[in-house]
Parts: sequence; C-alpha cells; structure tokens
Amino acid sequence: MSRSLTREIENSSQAGLGTGRNYVLDKNFDPAAEESKWREYWREHDIYHFDPLDKSRKTYSIDTPPPYPSGDFHVGNALNWCYIDFVARYKRMKGFNVHFPQGWDCHGLPTEVRVEQTFKIRKNDLPPEQFVEMCRKLTGEYIAKMKQSMNLLGISSDWALEYKTMDPSYYKLTQLSFIELFKSGHLYRGEHPVNWCPRDETAIAEAEVVYQERKGTLHYMRFGHANEHIEIASTRPELLSACVGIAVHPKDEKYKLVVGKTIAVPIFGQQARVISDDEVDPRYGTGAVMICTFGDKTDVRWQAKYHLPVIKALTENGRLSVDDPRFKGLKAEEARRKIVAELQASGLLTKTEPITQNIGTCWRCQTPVEIIARPQWFMKTRDLTQKVVEWAGKLDWIPSFSKQRLIDWAESLDWDWVVSRQRIFATPIPVWYCTKCESTIIPNEESLPVDPRKDKSPGEECPRCGNRELRGETDVLDTWMDSSITAAVHAGWPNKSELFNRLFPADLQPNGLDIVRTWDYYLLVRSLALFGRPPYKTLLINGMVKGTDGRMMHKSYGNYVVADEAIKKVGADALRQWAAAGGSTGYDIPFRWNELEHGKKFLTKLWNVTRFVLANTTEPLRLKKPSTLSLIDRWLLASLQELIQKVSEAFETFQFNTALEAIRNFTWHALADDYLEAVKHRLQTGRELSDLTATQYCLREAVLTICKLLAPICPHISEAVYQQFQSEATKSVHLESWPEHEKALDDTSIRNGRFLLDLIAHARREKSSKGLSLGSNIKRIIVSTEAEHLHLLKENEETILRTLKADYMDLERLPLNSNQVGESSAGFVVEIIAK
Ligand SMILES: [Zn+2]
Ligand SMILES: [Zn+2]
Repeated sequence: MSRSLTREIENSSQAGLGTGRNYVLDKNFDPAAEESKWREYWREHDIYHFDPLDKSRKTYSIDTPPPYPSGDFHVGNALNWCYIDFVARYKRMKGFNVHFPQGWDCHGLPTEVRVEQTFKIRKNDLPPEQFVEMCRKLTGEYIAKMKQSMNLLGISSDWALEYKTMDPSYYKLTQLSFIELFKSGHLYRGEHPVNWCPRDETAIAEAEVVYQERKGTLHYMRFGHANEHIEIASTRPELLSACVGIAVHPKDEKYKLVVGKTIAVPIFGQQARVISDDEVDPRYGTGAVMICTFGDKTDVRWQAKYHLPVIKALTENGRLSVDDPRFKGLKAEEARRKIVAELQASGLLTKTEPITQNIGTCWRCQTPVEIIARPQWFMKTRDLTQKVVEWAGKLDWIPSFSKQRLIDWAESLDWDWVVSRQRIFATPIPVWYCTKCESTIIPNEESLPVDPRKDKSPGEECPRCGNRELRGETDVLDTWMDSSITAAVHAGWPNKSELFNRLFPADLQPNGLDIVRTWDYYLLVRSLALFGRPPYKTLLINGMVKGTDGRMMHKSYGNYVVADEAIKKVGADALRQWAAAGGSTGYDIPFRWNELEHGKKFLTKLWNVTRFVLANTTEPLRLKKPSTLSLIDRWLLASLQELIQKVSEAFETFQFNTALEAIRNFTWHALADDYLEAVKHRLQTGRELSDLTATQYCLREAVLTICKLLAPICPHISEAVYQQFQSEATKSVHLESWPEHEKALDDTSIRNGRFLLDLIAHARREKSSKGLSLGSNIKRIIVSTEAEHLHLLKENEETILRTLKADYMDLERLPLNSNQVGESSAGFVVEIIAK
C-alpha cells in the first residue's frame, strides 16, 4: 500500500457513517481495550455453549487435557490451547455442536510438593485430612489464576462443563473405573519391584522416570578371600549389603572356574553365587558385576531368572536397611562414603575411576530413582500392548510421526503399570483387606466415593473367613488413573445414553508431544480395557516452545515467558498468530517477540483497511452482487474464492500456519496493495454510481470474508470488524457459517487481473524511478506487449490511466519472441513520459 493511501486511511473520518451502527472503530487500534470488550460480550451472550439437546447439528467433542493447576500459564501452554481453540472455533462455524470442556488434573505430586514447600512442612507432619485441605485450597487458587489466563487468551471453552478431578463427584468415577477394571481382571495387587522416589516416598511409573547424565565413580572392590577372590567394579558400593549374586559373561575365560561357586561379599560377609549370563558386558569394569536387590532393572530380571534371594537394600525413604549398627539408617550417599572408607581401610578397594552415567531420576524432584519392592496395585498393561499398537496404527495422528512415539513406547514397556501411590492428596484406592486371610473387599458401587483411610468397611466381616477385622487401604491412585478417563466422563459415563455415543470416543485429542508416552498411552490402554475401544479419533500434537535463547523454555533457564506478559504487550490476537504461524503443526517452535510485533502490525493494518472501507461506503451496505463488474473486481472476488478454498483445506488438515499466511498475504497484498490502490479513484466524488456500487460490494465482501476466515485464529479483531456490518449480522462472527467457495474457480479473471495489476505496479515503480511522485500527473504511458493482451489492456484503459494519473496510453504490439518482451518476465514493457 502506498504511503499516501495509508495516510488517507489513517485520516479518514467516520463522521456521518455511524448511523445505525452501535459500535464504531476507534482511530487507533488498542488491543487491550478491544479484546476485553469482546470477551465480555461473548460471556454475556453465552456464545460457546454446548447444547446437549440439539441433535440437528453433528457433535464435535474435544477431550481437552486437564492441566496440573500450577498457577503458571506460559506461552507453551498458550500454544497448546491455541491449537485446541482454532479447531473448536472452526468446527463451530462449520456447523458442529462443539463440546469443549475444561478440567483440572488436581491430584498428584506437584501439588503436594508445592504445599510442602509453601508451608515448609512434610506430608506426614499433619493428619491427612488437614494436608488434603491445604492441597485443595492451594489448588483452588492456582485454578483461578490459570482460568484467568485462558480467558485472557480468548479460549472458547464452555465453562459450564468445567470439572476438577479432586471433586468427590469426579473421583467417585475414578474409583468406579478401578472397581470395574478389578472385576474384569485388569488389575492385581502384588509385591513386585517398582521405580521409587525416596524423596517423595512413593512408587512412580516408568513414564515418570527422567534420564539424566551424571558423573559418578566406579569402585573396584575385592570379593572373596585370599585363596579365591574376584574383583568387581560398581558405582554403588552402598548396595553391598543387598548383594545376592555375581554375574559374568559365559564366554569370559577369566571367570570360567568360578561360575557356580559362592563368594563372600566384603564387609557384610554374605555368600553370593556366581552365575553366567549373556546380558553381562565383559568390557565394563572387570567383566564381573554384582547383583543387588535391587540396583536396576537387570537385577530385577536376574533375581527372578536365577531364583536369587531378596535382601531389602533400602527403606522407603532411601536409607540403608541393613541390620548393622555401623550403616543402618544412613542415607544412600552417606552410606557409600562410609563403606568406601571401610573398604579402603581393609585394603579391599583396589582402584577408583570417574565415570559418566545415565541415571533415572524422579520427573518431579530429580532425586535418583531407586527400585523397591513392596505390595502395590498394578494394571496388566503388557497384556494390552498388541491392541494398543494395532489401534495406534489406525488412528489419525497430526503430525503422523507422533504415532511412532506411542508405538515405540508401548513396545518398550517391560513392567506393568504401577497404579498405586504412597501419597495423600489423591483418589483413595477403594478397597479393604481382611487382616486374617488377606482377601480384598471392594465396596458397592452405590457407596462411592469412599475413603478407606477413614471410612468404615462396607461389610461387618470378611466374606471368605468371617474375620471381623478389616483394614482399609492407605495407598492412593496414580493421578493418571484420574485423568485417563476424561473422555468417558465428559460423555456422561457410566450412563451410556444416546449422548454418550455422540461424545465418545472424542473427535479430538489435543496435547503436547512431550506427553504422548504418558497421556495418550494411558488414555488408550485404559479405554481399551474399560470399553474395548479407543477414547479418541484424531490426535492433534503440538511441539514444544523454545525460548528466545534457542533452548527449550524452562523456568530454571530464565527464558520463560508467561502468557499474560505477552498478551499485555501485544494482545491475545497477536500471541495467537504466533502460535499459528510459528511453525508446522507438531514441530517445536521458537518464541520471538518480533513475530508477536509482526502479528500486531497485521491487526493494525486490517483495522485501518476496515476503517477506510467504512469511511468510503454508504449505509446500508449493499448485499446484492452488481450485474457489471470490472476485471479488477472479478479478480478480487475470484482471488477471495481461492483464499477460502486454501484456508478451508488448511483448517481441515490442521495446518494453521498455512491458513494464517494465506489470510495475511491476501489482506496485505491482494486487498490493500493491489485492489485498493487500483480502485481508489472510483471512490472519489463524481464517479459513476455503478463503479462505486461494484467497489463497495467487493470491499465489503473481502473484509467480511477475511474476518470470518480469521475468526478461529484472531477471534477478537474478527468480532470487532464483523460488528461493523451489523445490518445483516447475527449475534457474533463466531456463530456465523464458515464461507463456502464456489466449485469452479474463475481462473481467467485471476490470470488476467494479475496481469493488469502487475502492469500497474510495474508502471508505478517506473514512475518513481524517474523521480516522479506517485500522486503526480504524467502525460503518457506506453505499453508494449503480446497481441493476446492488447485487448485486455484496451478494455481496462480507464483503470490504468486513473490509477497512474496518466493522460494517454499507447499500446504497441510485440511479437511473442521479441527480445524486448523477453527481458521482462511479466510479458510487457512499460515506458513513462512525464509532462
Ligand atoms: Zn521425587
Ligand atoms: Zn478373611
């Protein structure tokens, strides 16, 4: 757009045009004021309400992931929620009855840890009820903060469908799902080694173990006695007390003679049998390794395979449990130092060397994970691996590479899912045990929710042995047990009514790439066990956000931006544009302030174009398509059709960046730079009415269509612009129908119009290269082109002359292979003659 037109737009007054319009665009675009005004408007009119009784429209259900109420809503969360909202808004305009709930995954470690940190207590310092109350209160505060951020961002969730997993009405369903899975044989209680966080004193699932590189020391220790000994290297001498065997490689000649013998463990003296196994790496340390119960997963396998005894190495809070007053009760690291000193003193430590290890740590507190066996509840997930893999292959994954992540994960799991946790703020496991025969007693479904930690048992006595002493389970459920049934809960389960079948499985499962292994996996495996089918149809996966320094955004890196801060600076619609345009769906995207500024600039442009259109159109805005349209008009309308086609396809395939780029390009270039410049002269007073009508019609069509196409991504400005055309408006642009494009595009108008506009643009450049201002009059324009274009130019002579402010146009015919035309790829040569 030329500077002069920009100025004209900026200065254009709306005086006299506001009649009948209840809202006028201010001269300056102020995102904060505009956005809050429209959010209030939507809330007042309940625009995003899901109507369960409306069966005239097809249902589109979204199983929004319920976030942990941490109080923070950063731009990474914003990316996730923007994707969901783009789809929700698009589907509403496509005529769907959109079900877009928002919930909160309240239970779990993060909240307990926060309460412990905030109030400087440990979970066991208080009675459980009191601790739970503190967790609930803090959770409520965090929810309020995050809800506010989601609203600021313009997320169109239906708050009438809000749920919290800590509410008795919700965890009652978690308990019901537990009972159903128990009855169908998918759950069992057993004493198997599991990953354990000694800091948080709870079992954790494999998905919650994060591997980190850490530096350690390899200690070479002498086992056995003077006449028969063997040297073993280990990073964990503190586990010596739980050493139950020694493993060597079958082909390792050094150890051939000791296989099958028993050898004494240093310091503690127990006898360890030497076994040979292919899994031993003969190049690691001395080639002989100690088997401890339990140092790692290999130890777990070997203990079972060779029927070795189990010696409990550590207590649940990570202290040595050996019955030796020198070491009992020491923390693992302290025990290591003391044992190493002892080995050294007795000459049993032959050497040490530094080593880099890949250590499994707790995802929440980064404490190295231990492996501890105690009674736990498990879900038989391994039995379902084949089904999970089959179904994962059949579902729609956006982008498709995310599918493999789930399949690889499911196939890599070699332990069942441990669903019990030794925590407090969580859904209680609804079982009691007979103190005599250890039978498991489950309550009636009608009595749910229950809390066996304090409630009376459901019956008076054990149904099996008649014992009257029953003990309530004190363990609780993994938080994923709460949040992996959300899709069914939204659909009204356990009531499997007609609505259930409309809402389940969910049409859309949106989440980040980082939780495909957890969230998407648990959802699928639970649903297959409970309902025999997957809980979702399409998975929409977003990538992670990188900070301005190029690293993944993380609080500890100092590159973390909260959504509210960005919205305050540039407005929600600009932040939403970054989410759409930042990268292809599913890939990591960088956070860049200049991209947000670019988004804001685009909005200002659209604002100004709208103001110009409003200032130059008379009320009421004409709706009927004029019978005569010039080439430029036909070009604009055909290009608009092309835009609708492109943007619709992009939304159907979840390619938000493609959609936004097309809309921005059209607005900026086709509408503002090309069309407005070429028709400006028609809007001046004294022009023919038919020209004026056609121009007004086209401008209105373009602006209205743009705001409909842009509505899913920039809901606020789209509403502001849309409301200007109130005479025929429904309540909101978000209740409008999505524009449909004509089946056949008018390619001829697109091609010919482009030729004409390129010629005008070229002539303008010629003009300025001669030092002439764009507004100055010129005498003559000489166009040389091929014969086929001559007629076209003749027909549009007036547009050319008026746009370029020229008195005459001379047309010269050039043969197709002319050198002159060859120089210009556009197919014409233009010469400007000044006055
Ligand atoms: Zn931990
Ligand atoms: Zn019993």
